[in-house]
Amino acid sequence: MDIVLLGPPGSGKGTQGSLMAEQLGIKLLSTGDLFRGILEDEAHPLYPQVQVVKDGRLVSDEVVNLVVKDGIQKPEYKNGIIFDGYPRTIAQAKALDEILLEMGRQVDLVINFEVTREVLFFRILGRLICPVCKQVYHKRQGLTRCSNCGTELVNRSDDNEEIIEKRLQEYQDKTAPLHAYYLSSPAVYITISVDDASLSPAELNNQIFEKIKEKGILLAK
Ligand SMILES: [Zn+2]
Repeated sequence: MDIVLLGPPGSGKGTQGSLMAEQLGIKLLSTGDLFRGILEDEAHPLYPQVQVVKDGRLVSDEVVNLVVKDGIQKPEYKNGIIFDGYPRTIAQAKALDEILLEMGRQVDLVINFEVTREVLFFRILGRLICPVCKQVYHKRQGLTRCSNCGTELVNRSDDNEEIIEKRLQEYQDKTAPLHAYYLSSPAVYITISVDDASLSPAELNNQIFEKIKEKGILLAK
């Protein structure tokens, strides 16, 4: 089972991705980890192309696709993958289809996380982070110190309304064509609407599995 997650930053898809990976016994793919792995290995054939990341330059679709193609051949990905943050463009989506096809697979399921602005703003603006262990909290929890390591929690400095607005717009502009692409693909496409900020990750997770079941796909948690 190969699954693509679509949704703006703050939609909770990262959390759901990790949960589902555990429940389904498949791997969550992080392109960041793949890039880091290559950068640690100077002998890797993709090392020269991937080095641009170190300079802070933007990576082309071509390089990202090569890194994914190389990375997902590893045995840990053989039962299936949850893609979060990839593909981001049509070129990447098409490349992913080809890569999977060569492996005798395809994108089976696309989960689109649709989140209202109110929920996004509530979540992101209320976000607190532990500067040491990076655990994320929400102001609603009323904590001032990290419950793992006792460090004082801080606001994430880049989270203000203007920046969130910009990130959202960017997300919408870039990924809008992806929805159309996957809607006309053989993949089962489901939309999860999140309009209640008090919904817990476990509740959202249940909704996802219910929707999947409605589509006639049987997935055991
Ligand atoms: Zn901590």
